[in-house]
Amino acid sequence: MRIRRPILAANWKMNLGRPEDALEFMRRIRFALNAIDTSDRVVCPPFTSLPAVSEALAATSIAVGAQNMHFEEQGAHTGEISAAMLAGLCKFVILGHSERRAAGGTLETDAAINRKVKAALAKDLTPIVCVGENLAQMEAGETNTWVSGQVSSAFEGLSPAQVARCVIAYEPIWAIGTGKAATPADANRVIALSIRGTITDRFGEDVAQAVRVQYGGSATVDNIAEFMAMPEIDGALVGGASLKPDYVDLVRRAVEAAGSR
Ligand code: PEP
Repeated sequence: MRIRRPILAANWKMNLGRPEDALEFMRRIRFALNAIDTSDRVVCPPFTSLPAVSEALAATSIAVGAQNMHFEEQGAHTGEISAAMLAGLCKFVILGHSERRAAGGTLETDAAINRKVKAALAKDLTPIVCVGENLAQMEAGETNTWVSGQVSSAFEGLSPAQVARCVIAYEPIWAIGTGKAATPADANRVIALSIRGTITDRFGEDVAQAVRVQYGGSATVDNIAEFMAMPEIDGALVGGASLKPDYVDLVRRAVEAAGSR
């Protein structure tokens, strides 16, 4: 089996957007987070704190990510940010987060997310592509069809090499911010069947084994090791728990668990 490097990403959402607050938080965790360098660690602040966090982490092994972007490079798109604008500030970008998809609109359709993935890769940004079913879909037994469809759409028209460069976050919507995480075994099964299975069908087994897949949804310092012990789970996209100083312990436990499986 291929060894995939663990990747832990902190999604700060609409928090710590004042640069001074972001820097104060990073000052508390930077040294310890920097030391866990057998994994990729990505911090995703709001746009307003991106420049300050990017500068503060420039000399560290911690990467920075944005939480969204537009698929166009420039133009009449009030309030939007393009890949070209992010390129000097960060290396990762979260795309298709369910909180954005839920807001609806033409910028968060599957087709739009596919255009964003292509635009991000064209500027050497690594997309973290979020997929996941809602509660009704899960209860109706539609998880596989839904997640597989999201994966197919997000990567439509990409080369196998491009897909292998991406990160996928499997985030069951019912688990995000609710304190009700999926069971590690269920998350592992969805990732194997609906994500790696779909990538295998469309891009081949090598790509499916190379692409890194995170779990997201109420991951905590207490449950992360169980997720990371699963063979298909390469990391986590962490919301609420990434805003606490013990996020460093979460990352440390994740990397230890990945190393001992
Ligand atoms: C997220 O927003 O991607 C997320 C997983 O949030 P939380 O960890 O708070 O559930």
